[in-house]
Amino acid sequence: MSLRIPGPTPCPEKVLHAMSKQMINHRGKEFGEMMVRITAKLKDLFQTKGDVFILTSSGTGSMEASIVNTLSPGDKVLSLSNGVFGDRYATIAEQFGAVVTRVKFEWGKAIEPAAADKALKADPGIKAVLVTHNETSTGVTNDLGAVASIVRKHDKLLLVDAISSLGCIDLPVDKWGCDVVVTGSQKGWMVPPGLAFVSVSERAWQAHKTAKMPRFYWDFTRAKEFLQKNQTPWTPAVSIFYALDIALPLMLEEGLPNIFARHARLGRKAREGVKSLGLTLYAEEKVASDTVTAVNAPPGVDGKKITEIMRDEHGIVLSGGQSTLAGKIFRIGHLGFVTDSEIDDVIRELRHALPKAGYKIPHK
Ligand SMILES: *Cc1c(COP(=O)(O)O)cnc(C)c1O
Repeated sequence: MSLRIPGPTPCPEKVLHAMSKQMINHRGKEFGEMMVRITAKLKDLFQTKGDVFILTSSGTGSMEASIVNTLSPGDKVLSLSNGVFGDRYATIAEQFGAVVTRVKFEWGKAIEPAAADKALKADPGIKAVLVTHNETSTGVTNDLGAVASIVRKHDKLLLVDAISSLGCIDLPVDKWGCDVVVTGSQKGWMVPPGLAFVSVSERAWQAHKTAKMPRFYWDFTRAKEFLQKNQTPWTPAVSIFYALDIALPLMLEEGLPNIFARHARLGRKAREGVKSLGLTLYAEEKVASDTVTAVNAPPGVDGKKITEIMRDEHGIVLSGGQSTLAGKIFRIGHLGFVTDSEIDDVIRELRHALPKAGYKIPHK
């Protein structure tokens, strides 16, 4: 089976092997040395000189961490959302008592930075902005650089869900002035699920000092205190650390510019490939993501049937649509440990699978 979903993503053999090692004491010397190696490399990949913490959590936990560490109940927050994950970010903030202004954008289109400017002008009391860099549910990459420059102009906190973009699509955390940026190990990092990584800017630390939302497990103060001892506050997912210790050097060896170029190429290949089958993209092409491609199910064809046939008869696991997009789209994940020929395989197999789902591929 090949896994072509936007997380979990496949891991290199070397990474899988690393995880079969015996456990070690997470308060011992060996773990501490591994923590030093991993943290330094994560900072390079985040393009930040600020703090980067490793949480034992899925991505959503790190979204919660970004909120509870910087905000207080009653704080006004602006949510910019164009999909399922943007909506989730807003909901988490609401659950912890933030007063959220939800500015929603049509699914399949990008967030309009000018709308952020307008919303921030309209309510100077807003303290923080929540934004999704790459909206995995619709296959859209938002112009985070443009959003960030507006948020900086208004001097607000910028919290970023970069779960399906960091390590794949350029996101210079310090240069753009992003305050908390979060991502998950099972997306672009070539390791299994279980860890999340968060960067924390100086401005975020200032906000943290007075932030009163309830938190214990996620508390950045504790994370920082323990990082000074090269540890995590709580027992970490040690096996995933082993995996990261192998995967991060592979990423740095390839180099960020090459990683970004490879994802751009894979994204283009996936889009051109589905279009060559007569299919249409769900996302507006100019903002289509280089880590996940959302494809409209052809008229009269159930998207679920396509993913079932691909899995059962062609050995390729694709994602369906989430929420209201269930059955209407399917998604091809192309992030992390993926090559050109693997995307060619997806398109070739789709060519065989689609007619079985009732779609006639047009002749060119
Ligand atoms: C996968 C994903 C999440 C959720 O991550 P979990 O690891 O499932 O908690 C959140 N946001 C985006 C953009 C994602 O791609």
